[in-house]
Amino acid sequence: MHSETVLLHGAYDPETFGGVVNPPVFRASTIVFRDMEDMETRARAMSSPDGQELWYGRKGTPTTFALQEMLAQLEGGYRSLLVSSGLAACTSAIMAFVKSGDHVLICNSVYGPTRHFADTVLRRCGVTVTYYDSTAGSDIGALFRPNTTLVFLESPGSQTFEVQDVPAICAQARKRGAKVVMDNTWATPLFFKPFEHGVDVSVHAATKYIVGHSDATMGVITANREAWATIREYVYAAGLHAGPDDAYLALRGLRTMAIRLERHFRHGVDIANWLANRPEVERVLHPALPDTPGHLIWARDYKGASGLFSVVLKPTFSRDTFRSFIDNLHLFGLGFSWGGFESLVMPFDPRHERPDGNWPYDGFAFRRHIGLEAKEDLIADLENALRFLHAQYS
Ligand SMILES: *Cc1c(COP(=O)(O)O)cnc(C)c1O
Repeated sequence: MHSETVLLHGAYDPETFGGVVNPPVFRASTIVFRDMEDMETRARAMSSPDGQELWYGRKGTPTTFALQEMLAQLEGGYRSLLVSSGLAACTSAIMAFVKSGDHVLICNSVYGPTRHFADTVLRRCGVTVTYYDSTAGSDIGALFRPNTTLVFLESPGSQTFEVQDVPAICAQARKRGAKVVMDNTWATPLFFKPFEHGVDVSVHAATKYIVGHSDATMGVITANREAWATIREYVYAAGLHAGPDDAYLALRGLRTMAIRLERHFRHGVDIANWLANRPEVERVLHPALPDTPGHLIWARDYKGASGLFSVVLKPTFSRDTFRSFIDNLHLFGLGFSWGGFESLVMPFDPRHERPDGNWPYDGFAFRRHIGLEAKEDLIADLENALRFLHAQYS
């Protein structure tokens, strides 16, 4: 089945609940067993890494099972588990594989809060972290140490949009017995299939395009067959969980994800190109634009692009005019996160979060999420706000 069809018919069979098209929301903590034998049978099943039974609310309900199965199928992984946020998915996938004395490699364009976790909790646990250049390919091999157990990728990078050579990095990790965890949030399971490229564990902030409507936070961890038992063990041991109502919102969001992404992709590229031709703009960082680092890798490995990219302005504008440009955008909300139906803008300076990155720009930078609005309205809004960059209008 094509991914677009899996979104509509995957995992859940309406016959399960008398023909109801969507799985109901099951809110549960206690699940009562018929008798001791029933309890013992389910206990035996749950003691196997592949066991999935109604056992206790924290370990899932039919609502979460349906979503997990659909996501595993879409990604091409073995099984998935849900957690309460995208950040929890990133940190848990790392924690599942490391112990004191290990060394991990993390791309230097990684999502800021993931880096913060590595710099605080991981280091406190005695894990050494090396941030590698996100544009590294096979040359990442030189950074492995005998105790390197994990490589973390996020492609393209948050804010700076370097596309990573996933197959080349995975080949190096495999040779040395290290596991590869990839944050695949930007591409969604529709535009990049991590397991086809050698990744062991894929994580998503389902908060973004999977939920798709800015009304829930959730994370997904999907593992291949070899990594599955380790992930499941950690998630269960740590008591991680996502609520059934949020799982329902994510299932509902998934139904339209392909059609939403088609538009985010198309309008994102069009507006990126429009911005690239503006005199105020120094550089647009969008994987589908030829001068973005890793563009050729994107063209080789990705089936599309989502609506998130960055823009760097010429270094000639003052902080005041930049602020007045941002404040005069009316259709682009100023806020964190992305992946919902609405357009957003977020100013950033990667030099704060990423001291080891090379950022050759002096101009102000902002990240943009292109929502589902009419493209002409978004361009008119941008055009109007850009006038405020020029001091005489501010
Ligand atoms: C937003 C985001 C996360 C974290 O997701 P939350 O649900 O907000 O915790 C992780 N990785 C990437 C790439 C993100 O953009």
